[in-house]
Amino acid sequence: MKLTPQAKIWFNGELVDWDKAQVHVLSHALHYASSVFEGIRAYATPKGTAVFCLDAHVERLSQSCRIIRLPLKWTTAQLGNAICDTIRANRLEACYIRPLVYRGYGALGVWPDESPVDVAIGTFPWIRPNEDQLLAKGLAVGVSSWRRMAPGTLPAMAKCAGNYVNSALAVSEAKDRGFQEAVLLDVDGYVSEGSGQNIFVVHRGVVSTPPIGSSILAGITRSCVMQLAKDLGIAVVEQRLPREMLYTADEAFFTGTVAEVMPIRSVDGLAVGDGARGPITQRLQERFFAIARGRAEDPHGWLTPVG
Ligand code: PMP
Repeated sequence: MKLTPQAKIWFNGELVDWDKAQVHVLSHALHYASSVFEGIRAYATPKGTAVFCLDAHVERLSQSCRIIRLPLKWTTAQLGNAICDTIRANRLEACYIRPLVYRGYGALGVWPDESPVDVAIGTFPWIRPNEDQLLAKGLAVGVSSWRRMAPGTLPAMAKCAGNYVNSALAVSEAKDRGFQEAVLLDVDGYVSEGSGQNIFVVHRGVVSTPPIGSSILAGITRSCVMQLAKDLGIAVVEQRLPREMLYTADEAFFTGTVAEVMPIRSVDGLAVGDGARGPITQRLQERFFAIARGRAEDPHGWLTPVG
């Protein structure tokens, strides 16, 4: 996604001009990845712009800070308001929202505590070329030779910048091999997740997804889709998935703020099912979009109007 400059960025409590939101090259986070972030989406609905699962995202940001010991002086309510203020300041409808908490400029050295904690929120339009086609056709993915971080190495449950070195390696390798995305295995060889997506597989009508213990990020879209499946009477099991489950699935799909509900049409060159979006994937996708885009009732209170 190429960035198109917007009017304002929220920076340590103020809305500053886009070009003024700068960091010093000796900022701690740039050297040691001492930062956490969120990826949130706002949808254009018939009642105006609405942020999808705002509270859950802000809560996860705060938990990521806690895990990597970044003291966050803003409350989740303040950050939620700041997000809506930034969207309004940029006069955006559908958009992507990127809050970032990081150790800024002050001291250098791995021990982070002498550097200040800075917070920024950027919002910008999210335009994915051929979005509808992609959502109908799905992605060709490859299993990565890079494993997800082993427990006790890096905190997979925190959305911290350092984890994305692993994601970037996997997605770069996948693209070099001619795939559109990567699926990573955990340290024990079980399916974990994509570079920035959770994964689900469908076998004979049963939907399965790896558990939190398989080094995944606890995806917010993952939770929503599990809830939607329950609403629709579709069984979902959280269980360790051997890699072979990918090759024998009737359907597979990714979930994520960017991926939304994205079918997977092949894994390592083997078609998933008959290589087209499967019926369960399609039902979950339709239900997801109906709610996110404000075309159906929002029974779980996922939408926050920006106002
Ligand atoms: N896993 C990883 C590694 C991610 O970066 C993301 C995107 N935040 C996800 C899963 C999906 O999470 P969510 O549905 O909360 O966007």
